[in-house]
Amino acid sequence: MPTCRWTCTACGHANAAGAHACAACECPASATAREIAACRERFLRQGGALRGDAAAAAQADLSAFDVLGRPLLALVLAGWPGARLQPTSRFRD
Ligand SMILES: [Zn+2]
Repeated sequence: MPTCRWTCTACGHANAAGAHACAACECPASATAREIAACRERFLRQGGALRGDAAAAAQADLSAFDVLGRPLLALVLAGWPGARLQPTSRFRD
């Protein structure tokens, strides 16, 4: 139980010290990432509006392409680490 005022990670609502769950979205004060995502989704479905950091975090979600595609594309274009072009026999003569 938080001993001071705390801000809900799921919705951004400010809660009183001693509150076990958020007054706006009912997300537990010590929620896991999965619980936070579920509470945020339920809160938005019910017409709730995210505040502060919760709104910024929801917009910062990256797609799989952002996480995996872009670095992989950069590696392919820049040359795979450790991979070197080997001269073929026709260029040696
Ligand atoms: Zn909340």
